[in-house]
Amino acid sequence: MLNIPQLTDFSEASLDAAFAQVQAEAKIAVAGEAFNIEGFRLEWLGRKQGRLKIISDTWLKTAPPEAKKLIGQRFNALKEAIESELAGRESFLKEFKQGLETPGSPFVPQLDITLPGTAQRLGVEHPLVRTMAEIVSVFQRMGYSVGLGPEVETDFYNFEALNFPPNHPARDTQDTLVVADQDSKPLRERLLMRTHTSPVQIRSMLEHDPPLRLVIPGKVHRNDAADATHSPVFHQVEGLCVGPDITFSDLKGTLDHAMKAFFGSAVKTRFFPSFFPFTEPSADVQISCIFCGGKGCRKCKHSGWIELLGCGMVDPAVFESVNQRRIELGRDPVYDTRRIAGFAFGMGVDRIAMMKYGISDIGLLYSGDMRFLEQFA
Ligand SMILES: [Zn+2]
Repeated sequence: MLNIPQLTDFSEASLDAAFAQVQAEAKIAVAGEAFNIEGFRLEWLGRKQGRLKIISDTWLKTAPPEAKKLIGQRFNALKEAIESELAGRESFLKEFKQGLETPGSPFVPQLDITLPGTAQRLGVEHPLVRTMAEIVSVFQRMGYSVGLGPEVETDFYNFEALNFPPNHPARDTQDTLVVADQDSKPLRERLLMRTHTSPVQIRSMLEHDPPLRLVIPGKVHRNDAADATHSPVFHQVEGLCVGPDITFSDLKGTLDHAMKAFFGSAVKTRFFPSFFPFTEPSADVQISCIFCGGKGCRKCKHSGWIELLGCGMVDPAVFESVNQRRIELGRDPVYDTRRIAGFAFGMGVDRIAMMKYGISDIGLLYSGDMRFLEQFA
């Protein structure tokens, strides 16, 4: 129940003061943050419990006859004042609402040149892209040029020319994503997502005569289930060097220099026999652990070494495929194994980036999560 005091003093000054007090309260309510039209009408103008009704009951009806006229006049003035206050606020709110939708209106927020500006955020390289560029630049400084090729390849460039004949078991080691509905085409023309960057080696040898030094960065695809170390999309950097008198010593010297240039001059390399269809002999390359310097730690499984690259001397069958295809294309079959030899190598960029930046889950590199990526900005 609202607290409206009983009037005891009916002098004009006292009545003025009492009504002025009520009017001031009404004014505050109309201007207040919490103002809403329906609530205000109910509280002040409601027929049963409204403040004006209570004032009328307690002040006007019970007043002594000689004071009734004075109170009545003031009551009517108060009611008018409150109604006009309310009408003013209502029209202001209406105007404000329209103004917000009218360009140029004083209610539309204007440009305040004293506020701080909106910072333009600069983009930076993704850790994978940066790592790939750093590896490429090591080889560029050794005179290698950069080769690029399509990610959707034919079976010929991805497999056949690289000495993976049809039905060869080595094809099974690369879970290939193929483009659907191509059964009517000959196998070598069927499209697939390249499983390695090696097709670019073939494309480059068709295009250019030896000598050739080429580094090939790029995205590759395999039908691998995603886990902490596997992603169906990943990145490789491969290299190819072809010319007269290229030997396995050149391969060893090149990779040893490249690893020292990339990881630091204290890094050692060692080579183990391995198998790839497109190189003979083939080798896996290990580097001394970059975390413990070769003493043995959790990262290198206490061996002191980390396996990082595959490499080998280009298999003569690959040069033979290149020559065959060059003849089909009307070019000279200049990749003659009596005159030239070559080596090739390849490495996974994702794994190197994960080592370099201490990332434990490959999925983070493909998540697009800014909270993760900003750490490398
Ligand atoms: Zn270690």
